[in-house]
Amino acid sequence: MSIRATLIGADWPRKILHVDLDAFYPSVEALDNPDLIGQPIIVGGLGRRGVVASASYEARESGVHSAMPMERARRLCPDAVFLRPRFSRYRELSKQVFAIYEAWTERLEPLSMDEAYLDVTHHISSPVDIAKSIRASIRRKTGLTGSAGVSTNKFLAKLASDIDKPDGLTIIRPEDARAFLAALPVEKLWGVGPANAERLRSHGFEQIGQLAARPLEDLERIFGERWGKQLWEFAHGRDCRRVEPPGEPKSISSETTYESDRPSWNAVWPNIERFAADLERRLERWSLSARTVTLKVRFQDFTTITRSHTPSVPVRQVDEILKVARRLVERVPLDGRRIRLAGLGGSNLIRPGEQATGLDDGGPRQLGLFELR
Ligand SMILES: [Mg+2]
Repeated sequence: MSIRATLIGADWPRKILHVDLDAFYPSVEALDNPDLIGQPIIVGGLGRRGVVASASYEARESGVHSAMPMERARRLCPDAVFLRPRFSRYRELSKQVFAIYEAWTERLEPLSMDEAYLDVTHHISSPVDIAKSIRASIRRKTGLTGSAGVSTNKFLAKLASDIDKPDGLTIIRPEDARAFLAALPVEKLWGVGPANAERLRSHGFEQIGQLAARPLEDLERIFGERWGKQLWEFAHGRDCRRVEPPGEPKSISSETTYESDRPSWNAVWPNIERFAADLERRLERWSLSARTVTLKVRFQDFTTITRSHTPSVPVRQVDEILKVARRLVERVPLDGRRIRLAGLGGSNLIRPGEQATGLDDGGPRQLGLFELR
């Protein structure tokens, strides 16, 4: 194991970890059968048309890699131990490892059984200390090893975890990102596969640094506005994608239908206050703020309207939410109509450090809030 650049800048915009267990399936097999330790192990389909699911590092030295036809793997590494996958056992260990992550943060995004992003921005500890602790816990509690990357966004954290595998810890500080990326081949950019890499090369871009050296307008002209911008952002080490726990809300709202229609906003306001408190509690739980607050009203004739406001500063606290709600209420004069239903919601949800606009800045998150029926 080596630790590079352990010094951490005082202010990280976000603190993101990517943790990836090393050769997970073969490592579990060696864990359960110590006779296999140090041997080339290949896990996958063993029939004629089988494919390699995962190979130990010893087998990788012979050129075996995942997704390779098993017949080819047998030719390359005839002395390997060939095993069928035992998914239930892998899931069991995966659960133990994820329990370790969950003790640190609920902002956890699994990519597979053996890979996850963790957002530890809110944590007072340094992200490097957290990564060290997590790696030690994985080893102690499961006997497996994992490699971790520490940086300020998902793109860099994932790149980092791959640098020193197996059993490594690599830190890319925000201020080092550009220098770090400069000499890497363009394939290392998120979203650039072989076909896109070919396209980049055909325009003379071999290394990430060559993209970063060009003005944004050039890349937008050559590759189109959307992809050009994306390439430019990633080439500068910027990535606004959030760590998205499965099930994290895109919007939060509450509403109520009255048994008997209400004659005035005054009669409805206590409900609005309760919705605001509810919104605060649920935003708090996910460490989110709402950029947009929406009021929904249905009148006795079933006409339904929504009014939204996006204040300059995102809201989370109940009094901030109510201030916006009051403005929205003022925009809906009743003119004698009675209120059958009232609702309040927050959307465009973001968390601290995400205020900056950029890729995936949450545009679609408004969808689904109070869909009109
Ligand atoms: Mg892995």
